[in-house]
Amino acid sequence: MDVVIVGGGPAGMLAGISASIHKNNVTILEKMNTLGKKLCITGKGRCNVTSSLPMEDFIKNIPR
Ligand SMILES: Cc1cc2nc3c(=O)[nH]c(=O)nc-3n(C[C@H](O)[C@H](O)[C@H](O)COP(=O)(O)OP(=O)(O)OC[C@H]3O[C@@H](n4cnc5c(N)ncnc54)[C@H](O)[C@@H]3O)c2cc1C
Repeated sequence: MDVVIVGGGPAGMLAGISASIHKNNVTILEKMNTLGKKLCITGKGRCNVTSSLPMEDFIKNIPR
């Protein structure tokens, strides 16, 4: 099936990953020049994708 997703933020990207895992042909339409722009400014620019790090490294990324 062809799947078109409008918006390439975290929700759109995860929907796209999920749809492609299920063998769909996915197109993401994003109005900005890159996907996940807002995601990249979360956590004061560190992004919040740190939870798969070892606990010691994860704690280093928590400001307080
Ligand atoms: C400054 C800031 C700091 C943040 N810090 C944190 C944090 O520390 N921790 C945390 O958990 N959350 C944080 N957030 C919130 C987090 O960024 C959002 O909850 C998350 O980005 C929402 O994801 P989303 O996919 O629903 O929407 P969005 O990230 O808003 O993605 C929607 C996408 O759709 C695109 N779009 C919209 N309309 C159209 C259209 N008509 N055609 C094509 N594309 C379109 C937009 O350009 C955007 O890329 C922060 C947000 C901001 C602004």
